[in-house]
Amino acid sequence: MLPVPVTQPSGVCRLEAVHISPVHVYVHVPFCARRCSYCDFAIAVRPNVPSRRFVEAVLQEWGAWQKHPVLGAASEVRTLYFGGGTPSRLDPGGIAALVDGLTRPRPMAPGAEVTLEANPDDVTPDAAAAWRAAGVNRISLGVQSFDPSVLRWMHRTHTAEQVGPAMETVRAAGIEDISLDLIFGLPDALGRDWERDLDLAFALGPAHLSLYGLTVEDHTPLGRWAMRGGVIPVDEERYAAEFLAAGRALAREGFEHYEISNAARPGRRARHNSAYWRRAPFIGLGPSAHSGFDGRRQWNLRDWSAYERASAEGRSVVAGGEELSGEAMELEEVYLGLRTVEGLPAGRLPPGTVSQWCDAGWARTSPGRVRLTPEGWLRLDALVASATTA
Ligand code: SF4
Repeated sequence: MLPVPVTQPSGVCRLEAVHISPVHVYVHVPFCARRCSYCDFAIAVRPNVPSRRFVEAVLQEWGAWQKHPVLGAASEVRTLYFGGGTPSRLDPGGIAALVDGLTRPRPMAPGAEVTLEANPDDVTPDAAAAWRAAGVNRISLGVQSFDPSVLRWMHRTHTAEQVGPAMETVRAAGIEDISLDLIFGLPDALGRDWERDLDLAFALGPAHLSLYGLTVEDHTPLGRWAMRGGVIPVDEERYAAEFLAAGRALAREGFEHYEISNAARPGRRARHNSAYWRRAPFIGLGPSAHSGFDGRRQWNLRDWSAYERASAEGRSVVAGGEELSGEAMELEEVYLGLRTVEGLPAGRLPPGTVSQWCDAGWARTSPGRVRLTPEGWLRLDALVASATTA
């Protein structure tokens, strides 16, 4: 039962005993109405969501975890995150059954964060009230853009007009902590006005924004369009310009850009994702979910059908795992640290690196620490590589 050092957002290291650590739980709900053009997530397109079967399978998996040494007798659920896929497509009663079942063997910590990802077209007064009654206190709304032609191109199921009413409905149900997801770096040919989309998002008063750059993955409709020459991905210059414009807009609106892809009003950072970035132990449930603790990473069967079959037959749903080498852990620590505004202890980088990065405008220092600037975040992979191979 060795204690492991965990870096807190303040940058101060404390000791967190693995066996009594708070539990951060992720539940992957794979069901979607259809596949968005850019999406390569592990999803299951289903017109009718098998909510009851999903809840049974996830709670069975959680039951198996109860004997695992990473969960001590005194541990409690500190954050719970329903991601996907589209968790808002699950029957709202299914969310309640999951929260209840997950927190029966492990109580919810006082003030625990419970997040549900939702698409705007799934938000109804009844659903929002049911989520709130189940204990959900944070909603992450997949908006992506307010431009109707862009939403159609993305194969999104919602319209731009549904976003504002969805937020009002969530707030009316008593959930104030709302995050919006937007995607930047779209092909030029779409004529998307990124700054207008940001302004429309700010006007809705979200507590948090997640901004992701579009990536073109081979096995997606977008990947196939690009392969046939039907889509020309955005160039690096435009991608960088949009990322930097977002950083300026976030600062102007009083948001903390606290992680490369995330910004929050003060006090509204995502606590679940912050646990990943500080490398706290986490447990993932559901198809394709990953878990990480004690230098180990493991992942579940990716497809819902395979996961469901294994569950029904009483077999393990784990598809694979690995023990991280010292080198891999070092790489992960540097990579995750540099993603956040807390950065890394300056002494963690090879001699000369900090001054070189600061001179180039890629990093800043605060006493004893180095953190990347938005210009540095644009070069994150290259900077991590140079910091870990020097
Ligand atoms: S709703 Fe989300 S998870 Fe589902 S297909 Fe679209 S991007 Fe992928």
